[in-house]
Formats: sequence, C-alpha cells, structure tokens
Amino acid sequence: GYRKGGYHAARPGDRFAGGRFVAQRKLGWGNFSTVWLAYDTLLSRFVALKIQKSARDYAQAALHEIELLSAIAKGDPTNSKSVVQLLDHFKHAGPNGLHVCLVTEFLGDSLLRLIRYNRNKGIGLSRVKEICRSVLVGLDYLHSELGIIHTDLKPENVLLVSTINPSKDPVRSGFTPILERAEGNQYSGTVISFSEKMLRMRARRAVAKISQRRVSLGGVAAEMEERSLDGISLKCKIVDFGNACWASQQLAGDIQTRQYRAPEVIVGSGYSYSADMWSFACMAFELATGDLLFDPRTCQGCSEDEDHLALMMETLGKMPKKIASSGTRSKDYFDRHGDLKRIRRLKFFPLERVLIERYNFTEPDTHGLAGFLRPILDFTPENRPTAAECLKHPWLN
Ligand code: ADP
Ligand code: MG
Repeated sequence: GYRKGGYHAARPGDRFAGGRFVAQRKLGWGNFSTVWLAYDTLLSRFVALKIQKSARDYAQAALHEIELLSAIAKGDPTNSKSVVQLLDHFKHAGPNGLHVCLVTEFLGDSLLRLIRYNRNKGIGLSRVKEICRSVLVGLDYLHSELGIIHTDLKPENVLLVSTINPSKDPVRSGFTPILERAEGNQYSGTVISFSEKMLRMRARRAVAKISQRRVSLGGVAAEMEERSLDGISLKCKIVDFGNACWASQQLAGDIQTRQYRAPEVIVGSGYSYSADMWSFACMAFELATGDLLFDPRTCQGCSEDEDHLALMMETLGKMPKKIASSGTRSKDYFDRHGDLKRIRRLKFFPLERVLIERYNFTEPDTHGLAGFLRPILDFTPENRPTAAECLKHPWLN
C-alpha cells in the first residue's frame, strides 16, 4: 500500500523530474508500481509514468527493467517491433521513500480489458489473428534478436495502441493537459478510468454523456463499447519487463502467472523462450473464446499444480513420461508410470471438441485455430514452434 517502502501517492498536477512531467490521472497499477498518464512539458506530449514502490527490492527490480527496456529501445530505433518504448527514467523522492520512475510511450487499454468488454464471446477470429501477429512480432524480436524471455506474458501485459493517441497530437486530440494541482481537488486514491467510470454510471442507469474525445483518451475499449470494433487498429505492444530476464542469466525458478504457466515450469525442469510461447497460446485461446484456457483450482486432496497438470492432459492428451519425470518436483506429482498420483481419472475433452461443443465454433474455424495452437501447446518445450515460425503459419496469413 501507500506506506514507507510502498507506492507513491501522486495527485493530478504533481510534477516530476524537476518539473518536466506533470501527472494527469492514474492509468493502472501492478504489484510493483502505479502507472500514471503524464504530460511531458518539454516535448509537449503525453507519456506513461511508472512509479515504482520505494523498498530496495522494488527499486532493484525497476533498475533491472530499465536495463532490459534500454536494450529493447536501442535495438528498435524506429519503434516498430511491438514492444513498449522507454523514453526516460529518474528517481523521485516522496514521503514513502525514493521511487525509481520509468517514462514510456503512452498506450491504450490492455487485452484484459478488451476481453472483459466482450465477456464469453471472444472478439472474433480476424481480430484475434491481428493481435496474434502483433504479439508474435514482439516475441520474435525479444527472443531471437535480444535473447530476452518475458516470463509474464498475459492479457494485462499487452496493451493496445490507441488509434486516437493524444501523445502523438495533443492539440488536435483536444485534450488540455492539467498543469497545476487543483485547489481542493484532494486525490482520494480511488482508481477509476474513464471507461470504468462509464460502465459504473450505466449500471446506475444515469445518462452519462462523456465526450468521445475524453473516452478515447481512456483507451480504446471504451470506444469499442460505444461504437464497434470495426475500424480500430488492433496493433498492440508488450509491456511490463519487471520479471523479464536474459535467457543466459535466469534468476527465478517460479515464473509466469498461474493460468499462463508452462508445464515445464510447474514440474521444475527449467525453461526457455518456449515458455513465453505457451503463455502466448493460452492468451490467444482466451481472446478467441473469452475464457481462460486453464483455470486450475485446489481440489480435495490435490494442489493447484496437480489440478493444472490434469487440466492440461484432459485438453491436450497425456504428457510424455520423459517430460513428466524430468523436473525437480516430478516425484511429488507423478508416479513411476508417468500418471498423476492423486488425480486418477482424467476426463479427456480435447481442444477441438472444446471449441466446437463449448464455444460453438464452426468446423473450419476450429481446425484453423486448433491447428495453430496445438503445436505451440506441445508438452515438450523444444517441439514448440518459435515466434518467427508461428508468424509464417498459414492461419495468420
Ligand atoms: P507492474 O510491473 O507493477 O505490473 P506494469 O508495467 O504491468 O506494472 O503496469 C501496470 C499497469 O499500468 C498495466 O497493466 C497497464 O494497465 C498500465 N500501463 C502500464 N504501462 C502503460 C503505458 N505505457 N500506457 C498505458 N498504460 C500503461
Ligand atoms: Mg504488470
């Protein structure tokens, strides 16, 4: 929270880096930071300002993120490789300590929000393909050009590039930056984006007339809600390199967010770029269907890990014994025949049937999507196609 070592409580109008950047409103937050829309008074543009918690471990993580993002920006001078661009960084002293701050280009809503706005429907396969292509360009760049594993790919960490981006042209977008702290405008700490605000107001059946311009500043999901997805560019960028690592210097053994975690990470047999590919496939499924591909729970007598492995096998078939037995935790979960110790009866329900029976996909759509995802969801990490190979897949072309 907002205490010593924790988040910095900013308010609209607060100035950073000797006055250059002015906080506008909060865009989002994570475990490590709060992220603000800020106005860059030197270059007259909007940017995103990530203010890290101040405790030493968080500061260290931010410096690590700066190192990776600097390499990313250096290798992509034209900013065309689907990864967020770092513009600046500095330290900010606040009442809770010294906060490392990262300035990046301002982007739109996350894929998580896009999925939520289209709950249980998915967003249509042509849009899924467009987003997949964009994410794969980013992954290919990270993996094959830089040697970076993201390790936390998930819808929250992929942001859409807003079509009406005021950072490109603040004057024409009609948004006047806040340059001073408003008197009596006590910032309460509540985080409501324009789009969420709109939804809440709707729920109260109030007639909420928010100008299109203000809504579009909140990202693109709100625009989509207002109009439709048609005509909106679905280019996106990968963000959040707080957990990313050089493939040559892996730190943590436990990586990734639960639902997007690869089988080799669960059994503890090491990981590489292919772990990002697994997460990518989980995310693509979610975009197409609106539901998580795997949503493990602890069950009677079994852990979340075991339930997760069982769900994977029910959808993708039995895990090869060689993989099942290769990890430091293999013996906890598998017997010597390569069967799960505590979940004996699996209910096989293959991916293709899931798409047809649960999501009413047509046969051609099922074969297209499953044909694309199946190879990426290979239990054997070395068998998974690379991002570059995925980009050549006929389903995307
Ligand atoms: P953390 O490491 O704390 O998870 P992230 O880098 O993931 O921080 O940022 C947290 C959230 O802030 C994101 O999920 C997103 O909603 C928002 N955000 C981050 N960077 C940007 C950006 N460049 N433009 C717009 N919103 C952003
Ligand atoms: Mg994050």
